[in-house]
Amino acid sequence: MHLPRSLQELIDQFEALPGIGKKTAGRLAFYLLNVPQERLSRFANALLELKTTTKKCPQCFNLTEDDMCSICADTHRDTQVICIVEEVLDLIGIEQTRKYNGLYHILYGRVDPLNGMGPEDILIPQLVARIEKHEKPIREIIIATNPNMEGETTAMYLKKILSELQVKTKQTFTISRLAYGLPMGASIEYADYGTLGKALDNRGAF
Ligand SMILES: [Zn+2]
Repeated sequence: MHLPRSLQELIDQFEALPGIGKKTAGRLAFYLLNVPQERLSRFANALLELKTTTKKCPQCFNLTEDDMCSICADTHRDTQVICIVEEVLDLIGIEQTRKYNGLYHILYGRVDPLNGMGPEDILIPQLVARIEKHEKPIREIIIATNPNMEGETTAMYLKKILSELQVKTKQTFTISRLAYGLPMGASIEYADYGTLGKALDNRGAF
């Protein structure tokens, strides 16, 4: 079927997004066709401003519109704890738990030698520089990379360079890693052996 040019263009743009197939792209475009113009304008503006007003926080590399991100600028946060995550969405996930009050460092990727990603290709050098010139002594660094092969490789590498940094900067912070375990609501019967084994390894006092 021959569609109006602007509608076809919108469908093509949606289809180019990750996780969106042809059908969903069409459904979204036709949905927007029925949305009031005022909402469409706000949507379009958000797209236009996305890259022009968003920058990275110079300390943790979280996204911000200001000089510092809202987390680094918050004086109630514990500045002696840093949680290392792969992406901004991971930070958002941890923030949603409301159980963490420290700072972050976003790597924007993972060490993945098979795909040509080394430690220098993600923000590990920036992390090292940050720890070296951190004004207050750091108490703990939490490695919150993903529990998959690349996340694990990244975590092992981070552990190595953080241990070396402790000696170099004469700091004695704890290096911790998010626990592996069974997801809430899961049953042991159906858990894969890898997850179950890790949950046993990392069992805690009750
Ligand atoms: Zn920040």
